[in-house]
Amino acid sequence: MDRRNFLRTTGIATGGLLISNSTKTFATNNKFFKMKKTNSMLKLSFMPYTLQLRHAFNLAISSRTTTPIVLVKIEFDGYCGFGEASMPPYLGESHESVIRFLSQLNLSQFSDPFLTDDILDYVEKSMKGNYAAKAAVDIALNDLIGKIVGLPLYKIWGLNPEKTPKTSYTIGIDTPEMIKLKVNEAEPYQILKVKLGRTNDKEMIETIRSVTDKPLVVDINQGWTDRLMALDMIHWLKERGVVFIEQPMLKTNLDDTAWLTQNSPLPIIADEAFQTIDDLEKFKGVYTGINIKLMKCGGLTAAHKICYVAKNMGLKVMIGCMTETSCAVTAAAQLSPLADWADLDGNLLISNDPFSGLKIIDGKITLPENAGVGVVPLKHKTDIDKFIK
Ligand code: MG
Repeated sequence: MDRRNFLRTTGIATGGLLISNSTKTFATNNKFFKMKKTNSMLKLSFMPYTLQLRHAFNLAISSRTTTPIVLVKIEFDGYCGFGEASMPPYLGESHESVIRFLSQLNLSQFSDPFLTDDILDYVEKSMKGNYAAKAAVDIALNDLIGKIVGLPLYKIWGLNPEKTPKTSYTIGIDTPEMIKLKVNEAEPYQILKVKLGRTNDKEMIETIRSVTDKPLVVDINQGWTDRLMALDMIHWLKERGVVFIEQPMLKTNLDDTAWLTQNSPLPIIADEAFQTIDDLEKFKGVYTGINIKLMKCGGLTAAHKICYVAKNMGLKVMIGCMTETSCAVTAAAQLSPLADWADLDGNLLISNDPFSGLKIIDGKITLPENAGVGVVPLKHKTDIDKFIK
């Protein structure tokens, strides 16, 4: 089913939304909106921004205190959709590459934002790769459409907001004193995600276990090299209340990962190894599940499709994020009713979020009622205000 038919079907199924490209008539909650015929065209603009991390983010093979992002907006007929590209170093995108990508796009050739198939096909084919940049455009377009029809995205997709999962809160590799501080900060969260993969894995877990008995998930970020050692560690971690293991070995090491998954008492989830829908086929028997991130796969439209294909293959689905503002994190949260697990804390790890969006209540994702992605710009008294007002 193509996206236009999909939108029509889900809209009719939820009794809320009818879309007709030819007449531009919308029915939401029994109110009918008729878009005036306009000469509007899609207008794309963007602004580079740097996220400041509240703590240094220490992983098995890297450490950093900032993350570059680019905020994007698409305007049409008085409506404005927001999107975001976040570029952690391991994906190879940067301020420069995202600006280069966005600068070569000409969205003003489109005068109907509901032609999402055509628009996203044009964006996809305009340049290879550049998935975070493509995600920014996709998120902004989805936000714009939600705002035009006056509905949050989860309603357009027919998803039940009661089915959002609990989200984990990430504890990076650190000293015992800092670990205890971070566990205290994570008080509202009922699941903790622990970054392991250096030489102090057992000390990290024992420190956390000395202050909390909350369920843990662990992310090795490709840090383990020996499969026998990895299996021993997984048994040790299971005895200490760990629920699953994310990316234990190098993303290219499919043979040892498949052996580990077959012998492991805990699910093994692909993160760095999984990027786009094309990766799914090779994962059968290699991983138990996948961590979907908008910045890896190219946005909400791709992630939505991946959720259904992965579940159909019997893979567990996790929805994650990079360090991102509330814009991209709330966008991902709109899909979270489809996920088994969520790790949507990227906005909480930064000190200069320009938006407010999803809320975490008793550890569970609570989706805003606002239309589109659902975020509201905050006031920072900086250039960012002028861009997102
Ligand atoms: Mg990960």
